[in-house]
Amino acid sequence: MNEALVREIELLREFGYTHLEIRESRIAKRESPDLLADLQTIAMVCQNCRLAKSRTQVVYGVGNPNADLMFIGEAPGRDEDLQGEPFVGRAGQLLTDIIKAMKLTRDEVYIANVIKCRPPENRNPEQDEIDACRPYIRRQIEIIQPKVIVTLGRVALQSLTEKGYAISAVRGQWLEYNGIKVMPTYHPAYLLRTPVAKKDVWADMKKVMAELGIAA
Ligand code: URA
Repeated sequence: MNEALVREIELLREFGYTHLEIRESRIAKRESPDLLADLQTIAMVCQNCRLAKSRTQVVYGVGNPNADLMFIGEAPGRDEDLQGEPFVGRAGQLLTDIIKAMKLTRDEVYIANVIKCRPPENRNPEQDEIDACRPYIRRQIEIIQPKVIVTLGRVALQSLTEKGYAISAVRGQWLEYNGIKVMPTYHPAYLLRTPVAKKDVWADMKKVMAELGIAA
């Protein structure tokens, strides 16, 4: 059995599945778009935490299944919950501008959150919600295998690394997640409140561009 299929089955077991009906055609070599779509099918009906009750839609992730660069945010807000796509509100517009400034497009990168469902009233996600959702982002990363991950804000950074990093202490410094370079930076929502911090984020993105071989 190929490694990707084994991981997919392991993930289903983590989510409590005990039986699977597998047709032969599905055992053929599966590529990133298929694997991401399979995972999305599971995520769309997820009931693993209380956020399932209040969400409008699961906000799974968008972009290039083979992206070199992945942006990881916190959780959907009101606009994202309604549209089913991450980073489409005001903070999302700013993220789109940052991506453009990096000479990339939203279609070339992959964008996802560590929490797939909107916390009511945009409250901070609770630890058990973060833990319940973590297998999805882990598996998305495993499928996409980006060269660089940019974490946006504290919650994304801490959820992914499972370490209590303070964003102010590690912002702009390369970290590592399963052999992938991680650049922690501020969340675009913070930049909307604190525009003076935009220059720090741009300095971080220049490091990312250099790592990806994009001329500044
Ligand atoms: N903030 C996030 O962290 N993610 C979104 O998708 C939107 C706003």
